[in-house]
Amino acid sequence: MMLLDRGTLGPSWQVERDRLAPVKVSLVGGPVSRLDCAWDERVEVRPGFVNAHTHLYSGLASFGMPAPKTQPANFVEILQRVWWRLDRALDEQTLRASARYAIADALLSGCTTLVDHHESPGFIDGSLDVLADAAQSLGVRLAVGYGATERNGGADEARRGLLECERFLKENRRSLVRGMVALHASFTVSDETIRAAGELAWERTAPMHVHVAEDVADVEDAKQRGYEGPLERLLHLEALPPGSVVAHGVHLDVSQVERADGAGVWLVQNPRSNEGNRVGYPSALKASAHVAVGTDGWPAQMETEFAALRRLGHAHGDETQVLEARIATSQDLASSLFKVHLGEVAAGAPADVTVGVPGERPRHVLVSGRRVVADGKLVTGDLEELRARAHEAAPALWRRMEALP
Ligand SMILES: [Zn+2]
Repeated sequence: MMLLDRGTLGPSWQVERDRLAPVKVSLVGGPVSRLDCAWDERVEVRPGFVNAHTHLYSGLASFGMPAPKTQPANFVEILQRVWWRLDRALDEQTLRASARYAIADALLSGCTTLVDHHESPGFIDGSLDVLADAAQSLGVRLAVGYGATERNGGADEARRGLLECERFLKENRRSLVRGMVALHASFTVSDETIRAAGELAWERTAPMHVHVAEDVADVEDAKQRGYEGPLERLLHLEALPPGSVVAHGVHLDVSQVERADGAGVWLVQNPRSNEGNRVGYPSALKASAHVAVGTDGWPAQMETEFAALRRLGHAHGDETQVLEARIATSQDLASSLFKVHLGEVAAGAPADVTVGVPGERPRHVLVSGRRVVADGKLVTGDLEELRARAHEAAPALWRRMEALP
């Protein structure tokens, strides 16, 4: 039995299996592992953060990823020269090192749920198991799908991506992991692939995870194909069941955001990524109450992401209340994916909590009742070893990346 002892700051909580419960008097004196949650009056027990859109495959980027030979001039060139080269160079070993390091860093930062969008074109079959095993063993909640695309190997590549989603949805039994169906983005897939992805999602009652209107290039492509835009294309081809996750929406207008809301899909804003890629600010997202926050592959240091959200939001005229609601909505998005009520420290709620002084790294982190960070240190893995593995794996990855045509 674990006791989250708040002392005079109260209320204290006990952890019963994976849930929080009020402290029972009868337990006093029993075998209790007591967690000090009141060493400073500023200490709070809070719900763990949710990162509603990320890419664990880019976890090695901070280990010396070389700059592209020629500076990308626009968003599509950033993808072509950086991220689409990195993902092609990944193999099982580098993906594992990347994911394990990124997950450890997320947990140490108090992020307890990740919604991952995965692509590794050179290692598709079995790739979701690598991510899922890393999540389950290190102890983070993970929703994950393989982003099917035709950009490297045409229809066959897309078919293999969707097969990986299907296989994973059928086989995954990990308590902390949920499968999704995913597409890279409208502009790298045919109507046939979108339709097949939609059929799979509906058939398995799984949500879709896809990038939409991140850059104007995605909108122009959909128009050239005869659609009003990428959102309309995905909706027309029945690929966005309710509960799906649509990342970005930077180039959606108010009526399109209302259309997404009407379809029951979640939108995810990624402030640092949008700023870094210079794709614009998603002003129309204010038309939906279902907007969450993600890092799009940046480290899952959510308080830093929220600071960027506030800074950029205010600069573009968004109200504080609207921006703060997105942080809470991220918990609702995660609750819908995992079918549990996340985001509250309350009796009966899952014990996904952080204990610490707001603004600092948490001292303790629990996910589904399991202690994953204790006294600021990772419990479920050896951080130094994870870092060493990442250092070891990265140079080979950069060599393969640079050798690609
Ligand atoms: Zn993304």
